[in-house]
Amino acid sequence: MILPVYAYGQPVLLKKAQPVSEDYPQLAEFIENMWETMYNASGVGLAAPQVGKSLRIFIVDTKQVQKEGEEEKGIKKVFINPEIIEENGKLWAYEEGCLSIPDIRGDVMRKEFVFIKYLDENFEEHTEMFGEMEARVIQHEYDHLEGILFTELLKPLKKRMVNRRLQKIKKGDIKSEYRMRFVAP
Ligand code: ZN
Repeated sequence: MILPVYAYGQPVLLKKAQPVSEDYPQLAEFIENMWETMYNASGVGLAAPQVGKSLRIFIVDTKQVQKEGEEEKGIKKVFINPEIIEENGKLWAYEEGCLSIPDIRGDVMRKEFVFIKYLDENFEEHTEMFGEMEARVIQHEYDHLEGILFTELLKPLKKRMVNRRLQKIKKGDIKSEYRMRFVAP
């Protein structure tokens, strides 16, 4: 089932999300719905707060953005109760976007590598290092669990430039390719 994507302005996007227990009701179904929602909106990552649940879960599929024949370079993973242990490498800029903030893109500086501990959909623990685009998406999605949106990480001038558009999104005064839920009707 495709879920509505919560838009910029929704309080759930600014909250620190709560840890998930293994007996959380209908967890497998919820994760399945997250996948469906993400693919429907052509995203490479989605965090539970973006579909209105303040839970520490995000999903990432960077296989879709690899060159043909190189899909194995990407990852398709569920991250439950993730903990970033360390970020390292040099800072690099990349133009990010977010399904909760349609039509706004902007350069965000992040470190190259992320070392992260997480549970998969079977609640098996992993500790892994990710780099490049995988690290980038993981860092962006992890921020969602901390209530941080990428627009907060833009340079001050860019932040001012996107502010009017953010206010429009808040009011639902935008067109989006997928179903969204806005603060104000
Ligand atoms: Zn996002």
